[in-house]
Amino acid sequence: MLNIVLFGPPGAGKGTQAVKLVENYNLVHLSTGDMLRAEMKKGSPLGLTVKDLIDKGELVSDEIVIELIRENVNNNKNAAGFIFDGFPRTIAQAKSLDAMLEKESMNISLMITLEVEEQELIKRILTRGETSGRTDDLDTGIIKNRIKVYNEQTSPVADYYKRQNKHIPVDNMGTIDETFDCLKKVLDPKIVTEQN
Ligand code: ADP
Repeated sequence: MLNIVLFGPPGAGKGTQAVKLVENYNLVHLSTGDMLRAEMKKGSPLGLTVKDLIDKGELVSDEIVIELIRENVNNNKNAAGFIFDGFPRTIAQAKSLDAMLEKESMNISLMITLEVEEQELIKRILTRGETSGRTDDLDTGIIKNRIKVYNEQTSPVADYYKRQNKHIPVDNMGTIDETFDCLKKVLDPKIVTEQN
């Protein structure tokens, strides 16, 4: 199995690269942001609970996202592997994920961090906001808060995987295809090892 944590600040391009990775490696894409937005769209009780936090660019509670991930991992028992996108965002989430996977005799193969400079992140998110329909993509203040939350609460998660020797940084200031080529160079050798 190839289980990847795709990491990086808001607007770093995780969703874009995840789609290409899914196609190339036949993985299941689990994005907590997408799951939460689906709940908001349905107007479910969960969607209503998280809406205010998401609109402000704050994190929703660990319990909520851990439960969403647990359901989706369990619903995909035969997956060739998973791409975790936007999760884990706290050390508590990372520890729960490890415990959850261990129970199923699975583990995280590696974490890839997509690296983009802050000014460029803001520019990319504002451009995305023109078409994404996401209110959290339209306001520079909210975008800056999301980056602040990332720096303060989420970036320590990279150290968690560094300690397990699973962390690989990849520059994403260039084009989508250049970055995808870098990802393939990292992942292709992994596929061979994971199958042996
Ligand atoms: P981005 O990475 O572009 O900020 P996401 O789609 O990953 O966007 O997340 C959007 C919002 O959903 C976050 O700002 C946060 O409020 C909430 N969210 C998503 N994933 C998590 C998570 N793992 N833990 C807590 N909150 C989350």
